[in-house]
Amino acid sequence: MAEPLCKVCEEPLLVPVEDSDDEGQGQAGPSSSSSSRANTVPDDLEFPCGCHYHWQCALDQSSHIALHLTCPSCDAHLVSNNAGPSVTNPVFHTSQNPAAVLCRYSSDGGVEESYNILPVLTEEAFLESHPTERRHRAFLTMCGEGDVLGTVDLLKDAAADGDDVRTIVLYRDALAGGKSALQIALEKNHEEVVWLLLYLASPRMPTEAFPDEAIAAAMSMEVDRMPADSGAAVDITELRDDEGRSALEYARALAPTWDRLVHAGVLGSH
Ligand SMILES: [Zn+2]
Ligand SMILES: [Zn+2]
Repeated sequence: MAEPLCKVCEEPLLVPVEDSDDEGQGQAGPSSSSSSRANTVPDDLEFPCGCHYHWQCALDQSSHIALHLTCPSCDAHLVSNNAGPSVTNPVFHTSQNPAAVLCRYSSDGGVEESYNILPVLTEEAFLESHPTERRHRAFLTMCGEGDVLGTVDLLKDAAADGDDVRTIVLYRDALAGGKSALQIALEKNHEEVVWLLLYLASPRMPTEAFPDEAIAAAMSMEVDRMPADSGAAVDITELRDDEGRSALEYARALAPTWDRLVHAGVLGSH
């Protein structure tokens, strides 16, 4: 049986690896000789229809796949119905299972069966149509991972580039029901991120209301609070998801984790 080729670029399902002993060789070009195989690793994403793609070649097709949920090569419908319970929304469970496109992915790291590629493709397709929101989405990802230093670095870079830092902090995730960074941090139980977001973007909260360690952390990171008097400023605690739920409602749903903040009123009162 012939070795499958990528349905996009029609090359073997391998990628070159960086080889420090061999620098300056560059790309071997379209002809993949057997000698170049020593410096390659598998990169084979097999879709449910049986078509194969390179990882990057599949990402390049993300708009088609995310929109049509069909294979760009053979047109087969790709969605598997049995994706299991949603793990992306631990607070308010969605009623139906999310769509999944389960692939078999062979890479340098081994073979992963039943890898759901759809979230990656959906994110990529969204960024293709909203290229200016890459930094906003990276910020949400870091908040969800509890990466406080990463979020601060990102905001500093954004400010240095002249981006509007406030729109990044107050960004709502269109791919996850319109959640704010604060709602994501509450959901993922990242208290440091919660305090940082409140410090940055809840101007109605007086600085003296923050715990000492949160103020010390913010000071050490040299971040500024949003001015309370900038008329149009939205307070991050006022942002609601697409279902109209507030950060306070997220915190209450996660009781008792956030009871201290709920009772202190720092997440608002409605
Ligand atoms: Zn390819
Ligand atoms: Zn196919």
